[in-house]
Amino acid sequence: MKTNISLLPYHTFGAKVNADFFTTFSNKEELTTILDQKPNDQNFIILGGGSNILFTKDFHGLIIKNEISGFEVISEDDHHITLKIGAGENWHDTVMQTVEKGWQGIENLALIPGTVGASPIQNIGAYGVEVKDVIQKVEFYHFDKKETFEYSNQECAFGYRNSIFKNELKGKIAVLSITIQLNKNWNFNTSYGAIEDEIENQGIENLTPLDLANVIIKIRESKLPDPNEIGNCGSFFKNPVLPKEDALKIIEKHPDAPHYIVGEEAIKIPAGWLIQTAGWKGKSLGNVGTYPKQALVLVNNGGATGEEAWALALQIQKDVKSQFGISIEPEVNIL
Ligand SMILES: Cc1cc2nc3c(=O)[nH]c(=O)nc-3n(C[C@H](O)[C@H](O)[C@H](O)COP(=O)(O)OP(=O)(O)OC[C@H]3O[C@@H](n4cnc5c(N)ncnc54)[C@H](O)[C@@H]3O)c2cc1C
Repeated sequence: MKTNISLLPYHTFGAKVNADFFTTFSNKEELTTILDQKPNDQNFIILGGGSNILFTKDFHGLIIKNEISGFEVISEDDHHITLKIGAGENWHDTVMQTVEKGWQGIENLALIPGTVGASPIQNIGAYGVEVKDVIQKVEFYHFDKKETFEYSNQECAFGYRNSIFKNELKGKIAVLSITIQLNKNWNFNTSYGAIEDEIENQGIENLTPLDLANVIIKIRESKLPDPNEIGNCGSFFKNPVLPKEDALKIIEKHPDAPHYIVGEEAIKIPAGWLIQTAGWKGKSLGNVGTYPKQALVLVNNGGATGEEAWALALQIQKDVKSQFGISIEPEVNIL
């Protein structure tokens, strides 16, 4: 167990914050020992790669970093392969391992930072694919019940950047592994963003899972800041899904507003467009700003504190609310 440790290497925003206590676990037994030995009233969190967390201040408690490894083939036939993956594995490395073997299903989720164990928490998604599309089971340890559970896809209650782990089970469990099913017969989703154009630019004719992952990587690298170079925690806000009537009023006033139909009665408007239209694209407040190429990403321009980032986020929320009447909610976990 380490004490008074800097969290700089353990999260992607790059805020200079410390934690009172820090430890790691590589299997369930190590986790239960840590939990049994810690004082009952001690605050704690399970940490993955720290890419969806903003530490606004020092963390007074225990950080328990998940380092469970494992990549196991559970079953296989001519059409599918089922894999059980340890929660501490790096998500992007896992994607690359699968596409290199020619298994299709998570190639659109390449280059998303963080761990496998965090992927079901907010049901990570990009370019028309969400991790819920491949998840069969999520294995987790429940702190109060002191038991391990295995939830089916349905029991995880996945939604847009949402799951049971962000609601009823928030802060009550540690994900230990996920089981996913991938395809040997390929069925790609290339309908989003600039994917088709990039495939054409690269002159790819017989698309493979590896090709598509590389296309996604190229597009993401051109649009999003690399956290190793510019501190950030990805999309800061969720895209609001509005009642159809409210969205139509905005679209009438701003005919250029991008929007996506969600079922019969709802329309999603990109939070990035709302922030940009509210005048915040590429602007800064103190040492934090919005990324010039994507206003949805708040970036650390150097030496920013988490408190400064949160102050900017609140100001953006306020301006979007006053201009559009819409409350945009953070996607990032604020601590
Ligand atoms: C540049 C950049 C791009 C991004 N792009 C995307 C994107 O395209 N799509 C997308 O969906 N997200 C994206 N994100 C957000 C982020 O990568 C994902 O949310 C990722 O799943 C977070 O993983 P992590 O291991 O870093 O989680 P952390 O930030 O460490 O934790 C996030 C939350 O999950 C909890 N948690 C973590 N691991 C466990 C566990 N094993 N058991 C229980 N709780 C746990 C933590 O307590 C915390 O509440 C991006 C982030 C960055 C920085």
